[in-house]
Amino acid sequence: MKESFSYWMLIPLFILLFTQGAWIFNDASKRGHNKWLWGLFGLLNVPSNLIVYLIVTRAVPKSGPCQDCGKKVRNDYRYCPHCGVSNSNFGKNK
Ligand SMILES: [Zn+2]
Repeated sequence: MKESFSYWMLIPLFILLFTQGAWIFNDASKRGHNKWLWGLFGLLNVPSNLIVYLIVTRAVPKSGPCQDCGKKVRNDYRYCPHCGVSNSNFGKNK
């Protein structure tokens, strides 16, 4: 039984983890999420963390500042929940 065989098997796994982490980092950066947190998260497990990332980032709508009060308002809200002004980012979810 060769001990070194199992270590060689880990190399593609590390490459996969690193690729996944780098992709998530880049995607999170583009989408305005916490890239360091998500990038690190992507390095921990493959492929379940990628699935979790995709679900969270695709299911949770983006948000932008309200044009009137400046507080963060989800883009699927027609009106600002803080001040009631119509949301200028409404519909810009993708
Ligand atoms: Zn507002």
